[in-house]
Amino acid sequence: MWYTNHELCYIYRRTPPLIMEIITLNITDLFKQFAHRQQELLREVPSGDNLRMNGKLDPLLALCSSSSEISLLRQALLDPYFPLGMLEQTVFSDVDGMRFFIYKRRPDLEPVLADELGKYSEAFLKIRLDIETLFDPTTITCIPLDGKKHRLPVDQWCTLCGVCCQIGGVPPEPPAKISYPDHWYKYLSGGAVDNQQLCPFLFQYFGEPRFFCAIHHVKPMSCRYFDEKECHQRLSSRGLHQQ
Ligand code: SF4
Repeated sequence: MWYTNHELCYIYRRTPPLIMEIITLNITDLFKQFAHRQQELLREVPSGDNLRMNGKLDPLLALCSSSSEISLLRQALLDPYFPLGMLEQTVFSDVDGMRFFIYKRRPDLEPVLADELGKYSEAFLKIRLDIETLFDPTTITCIPLDGKKHRLPVDQWCTLCGVCCQIGGVPPEPPAKISYPDHWYKYLSGGAVDNQQLCPFLFQYFGEPRFFCAIHHVKPMSCRYFDEKECHQRLSSRGLHQQ
């Protein structure tokens, strides 16, 4: 018997959790299992100490077809600033709109999600390298990007929830006297992946549910103008991603 996607969504949503675990071994579950454990490890470890191995990484990497993809993903996913928590909330979260529902464990979405994860990882690593080589990583954002757990700012209205960076793109206009690398224009305007749902300049703080702009002190003008009133508007509007 064949089902439409709508019917499949209905069936999947009502399958008991235990059976779901048995019948699914997909990139969304593998990513969430890895991300959950990795964020725990990052939160637990004192600044500067080595992390323990995360046994959930290899099953996720086994979905990659080439050794270059594996190496790129490994480097990005183990970075303490990689936004695992925000990818869980966007790319790997079901989308519930007024007239549609996108179930992210759909088999036909597997290659799309794998491609998005690969492209976010690639953009993240490029941005990390650009910050190291073209800017000053100790002053470009609110904390030095040196892998140590520096204190995040607290005396401000922004709680660093990262929700305002769940966006397709912004006008890539830099502040005066700042030049961006050419590919940043594409990333900022929404071209890092085909269906950008998250700004690739958003970094996460060591597995905590706190996110910060990696280029805060040189971010585009539209981001600089975003104020507390707009923040409240953004947080009160219902997002499409299910948490
Ligand atoms: S939505 Fe508001 S509180 Fe959250 S990161 Fe953006 S500005 Fe900060």
